Amino acid sequence: MKYISTRGDRTERRFCEILLEGLAPDGGLYLPVSYPKVDAATLARWRGLSYAELAFEILSLYIDDIPPLDLKRLAEKTYTAEVFGTEAIVPLRPLEPGLCLESLSNGPTLAFKDMAMQLLGNLFEYELGRRGEQLNILGATSGDTGSAAEYAMRGKAGVRVFMLSPHGRMSPFQQAQMFSLQDENIHNLAVEGVFDDCQDIVKAVSNDLEFKRAYRIGTVNSINWARLLAQVVYYFAGYFQATKSNDEQVSFTVPSGNFGNVCAGHVARMMGLPVKHLVVATNENNVLEEFFRTGSYRVRGSAETWETSSPSMDISKASNFERFVFDLLGRDGARTKALFGEAIARDGVFTLSADEFARIPAYGFQSGRSTHADRLATIRATHAGQGVLIDTHTADGVKVARELREPGVPMIVLETALPAKFEATIAEALGADVHAPRPAALADLESRPKRFQVVPADTAVIQQYVRDHVPL
Ligand SMILES: *Cc1c(COP(=O)(O)O)cnc(C)c1O
Repeated sequence: MKYISTRGDRTERRFCEILLEGLAPDGGLYLPVSYPKVDAATLARWRGLSYAELAFEILSLYIDDIPPLDLKRLAEKTYTAEVFGTEAIVPLRPLEPGLCLESLSNGPTLAFKDMAMQLLGNLFEYELGRRGEQLNILGATSGDTGSAAEYAMRGKAGVRVFMLSPHGRMSPFQQAQMFSLQDENIHNLAVEGVFDDCQDIVKAVSNDLEFKRAYRIGTVNSINWARLLAQVVYYFAGYFQATKSNDEQVSFTVPSGNFGNVCAGHVARMMGLPVKHLVVATNENNVLEEFFRTGSYRVRGSAETWETSSPSMDISKASNFERFVFDLLGRDGARTKALFGEAIARDGVFTLSADEFARIPAYGFQSGRSTHADRLATIRATHAGQGVLIDTHTADGVKVARELREPGVPMIVLETALPAKFEATIAEALGADVHAPRPAALADLESRPKRFQVVPADTAVIQQYVRDHVPL
């Protein structure tokens, strides 16, 4: 399988060439030249596989520059009951007739980003080892992504992580999760500033090309194709658990922000998985819901980006969205470039033609929106009615799923985080004496010794810190 850009550069690259890259050189995102189609016999065979075996089968269709035995070993090393809590890795939990949750948040940081990031850590270590190279990951985080990256890269040979976070602005749980890591290759830099300051520093360092090259600076952002590919696997795993035979259809509801998770569902559907609808659930930051309702994609400014109680969905633009639009436009790179590279860059908005907009139903997409009041009501109703405690992001999904499900089509809501991460909102919904259960291994998390460095919001200081910790 080869990979091309969404903006018209048709240079074909292999998987390991794009593994450590971000954007394509023309500013587009990488996608496979085509989606491998899975036939009935293959689906029937996959139904009986373990999660790691299924992951290996799907990865093999997209990766031909890692020997199969090595790839198999990487999948087996990643998806273990030890790391993800159960043999099923992503078990389904029934919520009510016709509606269930797929648990994607039993990894080390209790959020679904572990599903992909854990594989990425192993792929990076493998590929860097093979090349005899090193990579220094520089990132900015306000919560989930940073900790998922650190837990994936901790102790990995050839990789260091320098993670910037806004000093004193993360929840105590999130801060303890990152700062309690004692691994030599993990550097927590608490920046005296806000999240935007952290992001600006990462951008400034990435634009210093000489520094970037000399210190082999890379990132692990959500546009990485390998992350998206790893997420395709749990759509298949969820389907096999929810159905008895491969003639049945299911729908998925996906709490969405950067469109990475639901884009993996789109890829699974393009491969032939019998998915009726992919429901995009947003919070008050409804960039995507507005697009699927109106055909206009309108990037928001910071004054229009709300801080909500489902913070991992608080986005001003959806960085993976261009991948779906490229497919919707019949893979017309010039048109995709006109929309994302030109209209968005110039006006912050584009609107599809009526003909383009009319194609969306064929791709199965639907969307809905949820608010803080909806989250509280959904958490309450689900706790009282089904005795199940869900987190705020999953609540956005359940709210929208209940509105859009259809009789006869099982609806699978992706559970993207555990409620233990969002204690304040759980208390607001259910009262202070209801406590979200925490995995036993994390009981003493906040009291563990912390390893971090407070730094000013100054690019030069961060660069000096990197110089001091990377042997040339
Ligand atoms: C990242 C995240 C999301 C949004 O996923 P995208 O791939 O950005 O759409 C939803 N819920 C949680 C808990 C997350 O961490």
